[in-house]
Order: sequence, then C-alpha cells, then structure tokens
Amino acid sequence: MDIFEKLLKHMGPIGEHSDRAHGYFAFPKLEGEIGPRMKFRGNEKIVWSLNNYLGLANHPEVRATDAKAAADFGLAAPMGARMMSGNTNYHEQLERELSDYMGKEDTTLLNYGYQGVMSAIDAVCGRRDVIVYDAECHASILDGLRLHPGKRYVFKHNDIEDCEKQLRRATELANAQGGGILVVTEGVFGMAGDQGKLKEIAALKDKFEFRLLVDDAHGFGTMGKTGAGTGEEQGVQDKIDLLFNTFAKSGASIGAFISGEKAIINYLRYNMRSQIFAKSIPLPIVIGHLKRVELMRKYPEMKAKLWENVNKLQNGLKARGFNIGKTNSPVTPIYLQGDIPEATAMCLDLRENYNIFCSIVVYPVIPKGQIIYRLIPTAAHTDEDIELTLKAFSETKAKLDEKVYQVAEIPMV
Ligand code: PMP
Repeated sequence: MDIFEKLLKHMGPIGEHSDRAHGYFAFPKLEGEIGPRMKFRGNEKIVWSLNNYLGLANHPEVRATDAKAAADFGLAAPMGARMMSGNTNYHEQLERELSDYMGKEDTTLLNYGYQGVMSAIDAVCGRRDVIVYDAECHASILDGLRLHPGKRYVFKHNDIEDCEKQLRRATELANAQGGGILVVTEGVFGMAGDQGKLKEIAALKDKFEFRLLVDDAHGFGTMGKTGAGTGEEQGVQDKIDLLFNTFAKSGASIGAFISGEKAIINYLRYNMRSQIFAKSIPLPIVIGHLKRVELMRKYPEMKAKLWENVNKLQNGLKARGFNIGKTNSPVTPIYLQGDIPEATAMCLDLRENYNIFCSIVVYPVIPKGQIIYRLIPTAAHTDEDIELTLKAFSETKAKLDEKVYQVAEIPMV
C-alpha cells in the first residue's frame, strides 16, 4: 500500500475543513505593519490575534536595530551550530543579559522555542526518570514527553491535590528505579490565560524531591514587577529550576532561551540535540533580541500600558456579561456555545461587518459545541479599538443567541 494513501483519504481534524476554510479561517493573510490595525483582503481590521504584547514589533528602535543588523551581517552569519562554528560574542552577551533579567545563573539560547522545549526535556530525562506534568501543557511539552523513554504521570490542570497524588506515585517509581522526577508546567496557559500554580507546586518541594521546568512563553515580558515572568509575579522565580521563554510573543521575534543553574545549563548546551545538530540563531536576530531585552527593562511603561488595555478589555467584556473564564493574564478568551459552522459564520460577520479580526478555537482543540474567541490585547491597542471591539461582540453575541448564525456548513468566502 502507498503510505500516502491514507493521507489523501482524511486530511486530519483541522485539515478536513480546508476546502472551505483555507485562506480565510485558516491560513489568512494579514498585511501591513504589525500592529492593532492591519489589512485583511484589502480592508483595515482591528487585530486581536498577535502576541505582540508590548507592541515591540514596530517600535522604532527595534525596527532600526533589526534593519542595521541585517545590513551589517546578513542572514547567513554565523554559519553552523553554536558548538561547531556558530558561536559569537553577541550570542554570549545575550545569554548573560537574559540570565541577569531572569535572575538565573546562566542561559542558553534556543534556535526555536518548540524544538527547544522538546529537546530540553529529552536531554534531562532518562529512562529511569519520571515526568509529572499538567494536563493542559503546550504541544511542545507533549512532544517532549513523546521522546521520553520512561514513565510520565499527568495531573489535572492546575489541580494541586492531583499533582501531589501523581508526585507520590512518581516518587515510588523513581525510587524503585533509581531515577529522578521532573515536574513540567506553564507560567501562563496560552489558551485559557490562567497562570500555572507555580507557588503551590514549588511548595511541594518540601515534601517531594523533584526539579521544576516552567514554560513561561506568555509570561515573559508580561508578568511580574519587571516582566521577568510568572515566577516573579508569584514570588517563586528562584524555585524554578529550568525556566523556558520564547521571543515569539512579547519579544516580537523568533527564537527562545532556557535559564537555570550554571552547571545544568552547561549540560544542556552540550546535550540538547535540537541545538547541537541545528544552525544557531542568525546574528541580526540575536542583535535584535539584545535591543528588545534592553527596551523591556528600560521602559516598564510598555508593560503598564499593556495591563491598562488588558483591564479595559477584560472588565468591559465582564460588564457585558461575557464569560472570560479564569484568565489572570493578558490572554483573553471569550467562551460561547455553538457548532463549527455557527462559529465561522459569527467570525465572518465580525470580520466583514465589524472589521474585527480575531482567532476562533473550536473542536477538536476544545469539546464539541464550544467556541472560544481568543483575544490578545497589546500595549499598542487604543481605547477606540477596545470600544469598537466590545460593541461588536455585544451585537454578534446577541445574534448568536438569536440563532442568526445557524448555517449548514462553514461559509465559503
Ligand atoms: N510554549 C508555549 C506555551 C507556546 O505557546 C509556544 C508557541 N509560541 C511555544 C512553547 C513554542 O515557542 P516558539 O513559537 O518560540 O517555537
């Protein structure tokens, strides 16, 4: 049998809608400068689906630094993996500055966040070790678990009692096998926006022996007094043994990093397969990151403005009776009920008639019959953007309740 045959029979849970969704609901093309107003199919939309939390994507200093660094060095330099030929003083300077910012001894850069998380888990855990992880962890963590040859125990999302139960099981097994335990969770869960219970998990260190890896992709730059993340916010940054962050969100760039104790980070530097066997981050990106970190630390008003907008949007939604769940971060989900065609018909109305562009999440990512609109406020949004959006959601929600969007199929646009 041709191995491709099955691929042609079923496109997968999201791909099965591709005929109707492609180019509009899936793979849409936003054009123009990154910001709260962008063009979609030729018309200006208010955009709520970019993780440009601090508005850094179009900061004049960021744009100037990126452009100059690209002109000075090109995208080729340095060639090769860090270990072989791709190391530079800039890479090391960035690692030192990030360590200082995160309050950690050392940091190693990761060319991509996704592979970095997977690879860090792979490098730390051997077959005798046990991983205990939150049920709502990101796909990059779940793929790291897929590489793990040993046992793993999942705990119910943010359920500390269950986490403790799984730690008890893990301790028994690890002791019997002569292995250790890695607990993995997130600082801010990207879909629901609730913070991981880092403080409570860290407190379990008094009862159990384990190391804690936190993926703080959404917390970096947005949480904590200085923007050092959710660990800082909850006062337990020092209890996080391995702290993962990405530049793909607040950093408005690409690439990531992991911070921790010097000896452990050095181990990772020499043992993370995704870094040893892959090209290092190009110099213009590293130099652009140095500028971003400088601005994040120098201008706390960017984070203050982000939170002002977060509060306006979230309070406005709550005041209008919307269910935004348990978020206590900038991530703003709006929970509604409806099937996939209904969700897309409402999304179409929001986009075409109200000029609001935001992402929808439906089955199979969440249970059938639920719709989540996921809004990402940024420091760059204006009061007018927020007001227009609140009005649009009030009106379209009323139409959803009146079953105006009940259609047989995803609309073809
Ligand atoms: N972890 C989390 C929680 C994420 O949301 C993402 C997606 N950005 C990643 C890891 C992967 O990071 P990157 O985009 O830098 O590959």
